[in-house]
Amino acid sequence: MSQIAQHLNIVMDRITKVVRNSNRSPNEVTLLAVSKTKPLEAIMEAYQFGQRRFGESYAQEAAAKIDSLSQMPGFDDIEWHFIGPLQSNKSRLVAERFDWVQSVDRSKLIERLQQQRPAAMAPLNVCLQVNVSGEASKSGVQAEEIFALARQVADCDRLVLRGIMAIPEHTSDEVRLADQMARMQQLFTRLQADYASVDTLSMGMTEDLELAIAHGSTMVRIGTAIFGARDYA
Ligand SMILES: *Cc1c(COP(=O)(O)O)cnc(C)c1O
Repeated sequence: MSQIAQHLNIVMDRITKVVRNSNRSPNEVTLLAVSKTKPLEAIMEAYQFGQRRFGESYAQEAAAKIDSLSQMPGFDDIEWHFIGPLQSNKSRLVAERFDWVQSVDRSKLIERLQQQRPAAMAPLNVCLQVNVSGEASKSGVQAEEIFALARQVADCDRLVLRGIMAIPEHTSDEVRLADQMARMQQLFTRLQADYASVDTLSMGMTEDLELAIAHGSTMVRIGTAIFGARDYA
């Protein structure tokens, strides 16, 4: 078994264990493999092991990978998620290729994605990014701003509002981290009450996936534990 396959097994075991301990069911949590900065071969290896959902953070790098894989036979059922900060001048790259964008954080970006999503493609799945830690370095909007953006997305026929995403603080203070995750869980519940299409709380990375799943996460985004450390970003 390849190293990536072994790593995927370990991650899936971690997910299964915490799902069981949290009295949730395994099909409530989706694994997104974060392949940013990693070569095509790494994605292909994970694919061969059955992984179908991949997350990318850099629009140009991602577009090149998606275009290469789309020219090879056998990779046409990958679900691509854009999870990085998205500049408006790169929105078309994403609108024309991705299945999901999880980092939507402003009205202008919603307008552009709606305009640029090709009519021949399925509507683009959207998560709004929340800056739950309030750190100046983090992207995302404040919790209270979510509702106006959610309304705007829900009114767009080329977009589907799926939920919210956050990158909680990188801290060893578990109480602080748990507090941020609990606030995301509450926000998710409120949004779900308003929109039938909302089913995704995207939260949890290599270091904190257990705590995230215990706080209701429905999608964990895992890079390092699957593909190894990154040289950059
Ligand atoms: C890089 C990245 C991840 C993956 O982080 P790891 O700690 O490597 O698992 C998840 N989410 C976002 C938004 C990222 O940019």
